[in-house]
Amino acid sequence: MNEELDGFDSALADLKARHLLRRRRQVAPLTAPEELDAAHEADRGTVFEVDGQRRLSFGSNDYLGLAQHPKVIEAAQAAAARYGVGATASPLVCGHSPAHEALEQELAQLVGLPRALYFYAGFAANVGIVPALVGRGDAVFSDALNHACLIDGARLSRAQVEVYPHGDLAALEQALAASTAKRKLVLTDAVFSMDGNVADVPALLALCERHHAWLLIDDAHGFGVLGARGEGTLSHFGLADRDGVAPAWRGRLSRLIYMATLGKAAGVSGAFVAGDPSVVEWIMQRARSYMFATGAPAMLAEALRASVRIIGAEPQRRQHLAVLRERLREGLRGVPEHWRLLPSETAIQPLVIGSNEEALAVMNHLEQHGVWVPAIRPPTVPVGTARLRISLSAAHSVDHVEQLCAALAAYQPA
Ligand SMILES: *Cc1c(COP(=O)(O)O)cnc(C)c1O
Repeated sequence: MNEELDGFDSALADLKARHLLRRRRQVAPLTAPEELDAAHEADRGTVFEVDGQRRLSFGSNDYLGLAQHPKVIEAAQAAAARYGVGATASPLVCGHSPAHEALEQELAQLVGLPRALYFYAGFAANVGIVPALVGRGDAVFSDALNHACLIDGARLSRAQVEVYPHGDLAALEQALAASTAKRKLVLTDAVFSMDGNVADVPALLALCERHHAWLLIDDAHGFGVLGARGEGTLSHFGLADRDGVAPAWRGRLSRLIYMATLGKAAGVSGAFVAGDPSVVEWIMQRARSYMFATGAPAMLAEALRASVRIIGAEPQRRQHLAVLRERLREGLRGVPEHWRLLPSETAIQPLVIGSNEEALAVMNHLEQHGVWVPAIRPPTVPVGTARLRISLSAAHSVDHVEQLCAALAAYQPA
């Protein structure tokens, strides 16, 4: 017996006792996409076999229903046949193809910024970008609800880190004004991943302008969902869109570094950073997670090109999301009073339950009704705000949302 293992076992037992132990499900589509008949077509991308049981899912970040889109699948298949399945090396060695190059140009064009750089994952992008921009003697200012990879990027950078209370621009301004750091970098989620609210990007930019700071926004949950053509949070605020930087913001967006992921609304995988060409070039030269990692396969880049075309061309997906959101808000009027649906204009609709135990009980109740919504617990969210993170997708029908509301209404507290 290895007694040192006891430490892990007792730590795991402790997590279990606090209802914090996580468990993976095995999730698979009910039928292969090419076998979908008309009856199942309506459930494409939303109904899955979860641990062998049929479940209507509100758990994925496939906000536009593109992960199972026939054209996206076809693009990946054709590219696998042409390029093979592996990128074989870092993009800086020989892992960069015409598919990657075209994707970067199309992404830059969609968000309206001069240049984009494609990373194999969002997590890797942020832990590479932040240390490329700041180091010892610099300072990072980070919103308290930022995603883990922004936090880790800040830690890796060795810059001094100041965390400001969520959305508190007065506190941020004070910290910026007091700082004597050489370079200052503000980090924020553009859409907060567990709350669904949108950061006040124009106000943040104005603050950064006043205090000569840089601003990195992570638009993992806004890209594809916000903006008339899915350009994301910059378009939502009228800063930049497919037509380029808005006249009032010309020259002023150069201190903004835009990052978004491509495994959520875009339905594939990876991420990109966009902004001023010199800054993007510097990130390419210095981000260790870009330089020292195998590039994403070209088949994913081609799948993304297909998905980016659909994002720009099909506003009806975003309009349908808005309809579903309304239907959910109406349908949740009858739930217990201490539950709180957070205000959100995005696909993320968090229903705050409170205790870990009750959040799990509601999740299990829904499963018995054939509906799957993941419960999110600390440390992902603050203690006492365990929640069901209801994630809507353009692939859902109004009927699907009604099934969810009916199942929630049938919940009886123990
Ligand atoms: C999901 C997510 C990431 C990580 O992106 P991956 O491509 O999944 O690695 C980064 N930032 C935010 C805000 C996210 O929600």
